[in-house]
Amino acid sequence: MTVETATDIRDVIIVGSGPAGYTAAVYTARANLNPIVFAGSVTAGGELMNTTEVENFPGFVEGIMGPELMDNMMKQAERFGADIQFEDVESVDLKGDIKTVTLGNGSVYRAKAVIIATGSAYRELGLPDEKRLSGHGVSWCATCDGFFFRNQEIAVIGGGDSAMEEALFLTKFASKVTIVHRRDELRASKIMAERALAHEKIEFAWNSAVAAVNGEDKVSSITLRNLIDGTERELPITGLFVAIGNDPRTALVKDQLELTAEGTIAVQGRSSKTSLPGVFAAGDVIDPTYRQAITAAGSGCAAALDVEHYLASLE
Ligand code: FAD
Repeated sequence: MTVETATDIRDVIIVGSGPAGYTAAVYTARANLNPIVFAGSVTAGGELMNTTEVENFPGFVEGIMGPELMDNMMKQAERFGADIQFEDVESVDLKGDIKTVTLGNGSVYRAKAVIIATGSAYRELGLPDEKRLSGHGVSWCATCDGFFFRNQEIAVIGGGDSAMEEALFLTKFASKVTIVHRRDELRASKIMAERALAHEKIEFAWNSAVAAVNGEDKVSSITLRNLIDGTERELPITGLFVAIGNDPRTALVKDQLELTAEGTIAVQGRSSKTSLPGVFAAGDVIDPTYRQAITAAGSGCAAALDVEHYLASLE
């Protein structure tokens, strides 16, 4: 257990090791701010560790595997001196001029500035084969993966606006999109619902839930359970898009920082400044809209530059 003394006060601590955290680490390290990154113990590297090919991160002509992209980002940050530790942050005290970060192993660290880049979690169906087939037909992001399903039959799970948006976007690629919804009417706004209901490529499986995701190496079908009469049927598909919601990971800070109505950390305008001085936030944890690797990375860059300006203002 490390308990640092007042003389060990750092310039900046970064919590999170997705594209936002690692980009913030590259920038703050290159600005000689000696960042320490708490990357998480099991989930280091963030959401892209759960996927296969990433084809939309600029600079990789042929695409790159998600884990390889994150490994590259980590090595790039280390090359400039970022200290990356695979530890979970258990609690933070962000109120004073000096912020305190306590790890799961009891160690305590202090810094003048903190960047929160803890991401957000897509809600899962909770089925045994869902995780195993993630990146092999199961997806949480139409923008990311729609392109892989040209002329194929796919399903979208959910009945809200984001499910309709995903389904409508996916009609550009898929030959047929089945929207699976637990009820017999949509939760989505009228305009989105009407668009989906009128679309020639979209069909609906009402009052239905996914009972199983099937396939050896990739998705080949789902088993649908009718919630009225309990009957089951198999729907042959190659892609399953889960669109049942997203939860920003704010547990660490929700009692200290202002949040938005959507549950993300509130930031001031286009900056990464939160409701407390010296505390900055970046990536999906502040983003209810875009949630892409490149937008998270851009936001990590902004947070690093905001930290630089903040520290300069203290001198
Ligand atoms: P994350 O990547 O979620 O990283 C958050 C980090 O915070 C993790 O490292 C976690 O360990 C850490 N953390 C959280 N709490 C703590 C704590 N208490 N202590 C220490 N660490 C903590 N986007 C694309 O642009 N292209 C794609 O092809 C693409 N494919 C995707 C495929 C899948 C399956 C998923 C789920 C998402 C995909 N996305 C894709 C979206 C993209 O992954 C996210 O937008 C991006 O990862 C967000 O980056 P982030 O840094 O904000 O958060």
